[in-house]
Amino acid sequence: MFEYSQRIKNLPPYLFAEIDRKKREKLSQGVDLIDLGVGDPDMPTPKPIVDAMKKAVEKPEHHKYPSYEGMLSFRQAVANWYKRRFDVELDPASEVVTLIGSKEGIAHFPLAFINPGDIVLCPDPAYPVYKIGTLFAGGEPYLLPLKEENGFLPDFKSVPKDVLKRAKIMWVNYPNNPTSATATVDFYRELVQWARENNIIVASDLAYSEIYFGENRPVSILQVEGAMDVAIEFHSLSKTFNMTGWRLGMAVGNKNLVAGLGKVKTNVDSGQFQAIQEAGITALSLPEEEVQNIRNTYKERRQAMEKALQEVGLEVYKSDATFYLWVKVPKGYSSAEFVSRLLDECGIVCTPGNGFGEHGEGYFRISLTVPTQRLLEAVDRIKKLKL
Ligand SMILES: *Cc1c(COP(=O)(O)O)cnc(C)c1O
Repeated sequence: MFEYSQRIKNLPPYLFAEIDRKKREKLSQGVDLIDLGVGDPDMPTPKPIVDAMKKAVEKPEHHKYPSYEGMLSFRQAVANWYKRRFDVELDPASEVVTLIGSKEGIAHFPLAFINPGDIVLCPDPAYPVYKIGTLFAGGEPYLLPLKEENGFLPDFKSVPKDVLKRAKIMWVNYPNNPTSATATVDFYRELVQWARENNIIVASDLAYSEIYFGENRPVSILQVEGAMDVAIEFHSLSKTFNMTGWRLGMAVGNKNLVAGLGKVKTNVDSGQFQAIQEAGITALSLPEEEVQNIRNTYKERRQAMEKALQEVGLEVYKSDATFYLWVKVPKGYSSAEFVSRLLDECGIVCTPGNGFGEHGEGYFRISLTVPTQRLLEAVDRIKKLKL
């Protein structure tokens, strides 16, 4: 038969195959599984957004090809939102591009700036797309381990000189998936200074900026002076407004970086359906209470689950952001072994940390994205666990 390309053959192995097999086996035995494995919000998209979509879909002007870079009105709504939320000024025409979900932009971005042999600095553990986008562009991922003793922040100053010389992009993602760690303005200030000195693009993934529970709201790298010279930020309506199925995101920041991504997109897609962008404008201008309700639900779930895990002696990384819990596996277990035990004894599916990269070994991730009733059932099952 036809052989796959080298780029497909080079993809990292799929580490969830064993868990998927076990999950299917349990389901076929009639086990009442609770799946805390996937990071996909269970709550519906807020009604005003759905209503805006219903109206927008009727308009014939939206039935044509959209503009490549996105509707100016949506990009203006993004700029207004960034101003309101982060006090960051963006020119909608040149510093914002609409994405078909941020995954699309994250995967395509290296194609605009990476030549074969260039290095991309990727965190580990991480969302897999940073590494895969790098490989597809012919670049070399260089892994920066995220360690608990550093608050799961990368030690970018330790990157060797010869690597730095070949490095062109560095990925950061805070609030972080999978560790739930957050970053401060001071971290970004140092990162931007270092990136300017070493001529490195900083690509920030801010997908979880609105999933927070503490006093201090997550920050954008673009709040830092000088960031506009070196940074591009990827954001999305997926997690903030329960819109993962809609596929709507944005990249903002340095003009040259935004334009480079735009050049790739012009050649591979034709933009997002304008009716979706129009509904996106409604989302970005929703009253804050709408998003606060979503946060309150996650907060309640987080507290219940954290308490249950602590009661059985499991150690949860302390964080007040994201809908994930990053939990240490007990001594004597690998991530895969312990996740297997949770599946066998509790009927609960979690993600082993090594699925996000080798430095995720020793942890597992719990997603709080199931209805509260089911989550409380999972809490009860975990409380009965004998470690
Ligand atoms: C969910 C997620 C995204 C957003 O994905 P969309 O394509 O916008 O739905 C981006 N980065 C991370 C780390 C995520 O977990």
